[in-house]
Amino acid sequence: MTAPPSLRSLTDLAEAGLIAPERLAELAPVVARYALAIPAGLAQAIAEAGPDSALARQFVPSAAELTTLPEEITDPIGDHAHSPVKGLVHRYPDRVLLKPVHACPVYCRFCFRREHVGPGGESLSEAEMARVLAYIGDHREIWEVVLSGGDPMILSARRLDALLGALEAIPHIGSLRIHSRVPVLDPARITPAVIAALRRSKPVWLVIHANHPDEFTAAARACVASLADAGVPLLSQSVLLKGVNDDLATLTRLMRTFVANRIKPYYLHQTDMAPGTAHFRTSLDEGRALVAALRATASGLCQPTYVLDAPDGPGKRPIDVAWG
Ligand SMILES: *Cc1c(COP(=O)(O)O)cnc(C)c1O
Ligand code: SF4
Repeated sequence: MTAPPSLRSLTDLAEAGLIAPERLAELAPVVARYALAIPAGLAQAIAEAGPDSALARQFVPSAAELTTLPEEITDPIGDHAHSPVKGLVHRYPDRVLLKPVHACPVYCRFCFRREHVGPGGESLSEAEMARVLAYIGDHREIWEVVLSGGDPMILSARRLDALLGALEAIPHIGSLRIHSRVPVLDPARITPAVIAALRRSKPVWLVIHANHPDEFTAAARACVASLADAGVPLLSQSVLLKGVNDDLATLTRLMRTFVANRIKPYYLHQTDMAPGTAHFRTSLDEGRALVAALRATASGLCQPTYVLDAPDGPGKRPIDVAWG
């Protein structure tokens, strides 16, 4: 089964009513620099939510992306310094990040890997993947493999199954994990064959990235329910984004939406220092105040860990208490 077509140009967006035609010229340099894609179903949800909505803000290009601050950098979480072979980041002793593809079904305007993801970025070749698997096989301290990207769930069911099978066969691997936006933003891709590929002898945890409750369309909720029914353990990750979810009411609704859909909140990320994302960044103090208010008012199930990942730092670190 193929996914429905995506919008991939400013003209597509204008035709779908997501941007006014007179803004095409202003936004041309934005899409020349950063990738653009919006799946058809999401485009419809954005059109319904309106041009000033949290959905539009996350996915429709904005001229504000052309403003890059001096402190914004192309590798904001320091992946390159920790990459022993192409496609792999080994930053923490017991787990690695494996990036089989660079493409995503949708390009978030605040993406922390925005200088590295895009439709042109090819996936790992067979030889490169063999080197990745050999590295993991040779390093017995690695207990978990985290698939990221890009979005690994744009792989076909057959390729996903082959990759998870190869990783599962490595004796010292105890846990597999996939970070993806697909179940919520492009649910048509989650076919029965994909769900079958996730059911294995070793657990495959699925960490679903979503930032606003309106991302949970009827199709998204149905997709997440089918994953939960199949026994796939579900976690969330969100980015704290100015004008999207940086108020207590929205953040609470987002976390409750996760829990109501059988997704346990895992991480809330401070927006990384990626270029052209200043208009999305809250201060650490604002973030801490919000997380404290969430703690004081919402169920324990609704509490993600608020984390910061600095390029030269020790890696992801909880920042909800004032120690960094
Ligand atoms: C985020 C990340 C992981 C996973 O970290 P957890 O805290 O276990 O979720 C692993 N490797 C890299 C390089 C990462 O950035
Ligand atoms: S899905 Fe993830 S990697 Fe892809 S554009 Fe969004 S934040 Fe970036």
